[in-house]
Amino acid sequence: MAHNGILTLFDIDGTLVRGARCHYMAFVHAVSKFYGMEEDISGINYAGKTDPQILREVLELGGVPEKLINENFQDCLDYMIQDYTANVHRENVMALSGVNKLLDKLKNNNVLLGLTTGNLEPIAYAKLERAGIDDYFSFGGFGSDSPKRPCLVEKALERARKLHGYQGDQIFVIGDTPRDVEAAKPFNLSTIAVATGSYSTQELEKTGADHVLESLTDTDTVMKIINKN
Ligand SMILES: [Mg+2]
Repeated sequence: MAHNGILTLFDIDGTLVRGARCHYMAFVHAVSKFYGMEEDISGINYAGKTDPQILREVLELGGVPEKLINENFQDCLDYMIQDYTANVHRENVMALSGVNKLLDKLKNNNVLLGLTTGNLEPIAYAKLERAGIDDYFSFGGFGSDSPKRPCLVEKALERARKLHGYQGDQIFVIGDTPRDVEAAKPFNLSTIAVATGSYSTQELEKTGADHVLESLTDTDTVMKIINKN
């Protein structure tokens, strides 16, 4: 269907869904298998970071030599995907309040829907499927495209143009961390930060996001923001 010139790029964790224990466990299993590390990585702040970025940080913190990190890096990421897709039926992930309704409204208004997430692409879609909202999305920028979040935003924009003929300039990046907002800045995109992840509205205000919301529950407010620009 032809889109109406508006593009929304959604982050996944803390923005569209909450709870992803199996994703965390896939990470732990992969790190243990390829690097023999059993450390507890739950203390690391990985909000808004990409899967490859988190993996490298964990390994560097664990003192794994650079050469060894690089040798097994891709295999480790591939294993994470395998482990995740094998266990996703147990994943405790749920769409956040208002998300289904909002995605429906956007779709019915012919807004083009895409993703910008640090998740590896197969993990992103498996997670969304588990949460029952995968049908809304067909493209995006992912952790598998780049460890750097701005680069995956760029990738999502490129795919919107290439795959959907998108030529508009009303583009919204919707995410739950300062990193989501930062990643959108080089491209002058509008940003909506939501406090449904690990950051409060006060913390998100400081990022200079164009709009800061407590959640996506009030879909009328979100639609107003998106339709006004
Ligand atoms: Mg997030």
